[in-house]
Amino acid sequence: MKLFMDPKENLFHVHTFRCLHASMCEDSVYVERALELNAGSIWFTDHAPFPGDPFGHRMRYEELEEYLTTLTELKERYQDRIDIHIGLETEYFPSFDKSGYYRRLRSDERLELLLLGQHMAEDENGDYTFHWDGELLQEGEAKAIGTAICQGIRSGYFDIVAHPDRSFRRRKQWTDDMTEIAEQIINTAKQKGVVLELNETSKRHKHQYWKEFWELNADQCPVVIGLDAHSPEELMLEQ
Ligand SMILES: [Zn+2]
Ligand SMILES: [Zn+2]
Repeated sequence: MKLFMDPKENLFHVHTFRCLHASMCEDSVYVERALELNAGSIWFTDHAPFPGDPFGHRMRYEELEEYLTTLTELKERYQDRIDIHIGLETEYFPSFDKSGYYRRLRSDERLELLLLGQHMAEDENGDYTFHWDGELLQEGEAKAIGTAICQGIRSGYFDIVAHPDRSFRRRKQWTDDMTEIAEQIINTAKQKGVVLELNETSKRHKHQYWKEFWELNADQCPVVIGLDAHSPEELMLEQ
């Protein structure tokens, strides 16, 4: 596997208390823990809010400014000891692209990285896949998420795709249509020079980590190992 950076040195994909499903500790606690682990860098990528706050499990839109300000201050305070990188993890939705949301995010120079974490997709009716049910959800969501990931990569706003194999989390066994979706994601990422994340947390949940996906990606796109840490304890890479 072509690694984008050394996972022991660089702690990638870290959340904060603002998403309301992570430890309620200050951001500096993560930084101090990273220093104890002798890391050279830590990459914060908390869940991005959207205007109007249509989704849960993330900070409110009005908190975004505080997130960027606080992390920028920490970055300066720790600059001699560790590199703090500021990113956001977010989905790609065509309607928010049209309204200029991603362009606005990218125009803020404090924000260094957008991580494409496609937890759901927007359908043609402007609805979201978490409102789907039955077989459409079980079987159809993987394709919708795969398509959204490819659109997101092509939009040019994203640097890294988070847990691409989690697209298949509602499936129980690997099938040919999954190979097709996986190849589309890998080929699109390869064309655009986008990195894929092998997510450590996915390995701890059923049907989120698919070795078949990573076999297809053998040496095609560079891979970053992501912790998806929601607590300072989770900054340690499992052996
Ligand atoms: Zn989370
Ligand atoms: Zn995450």
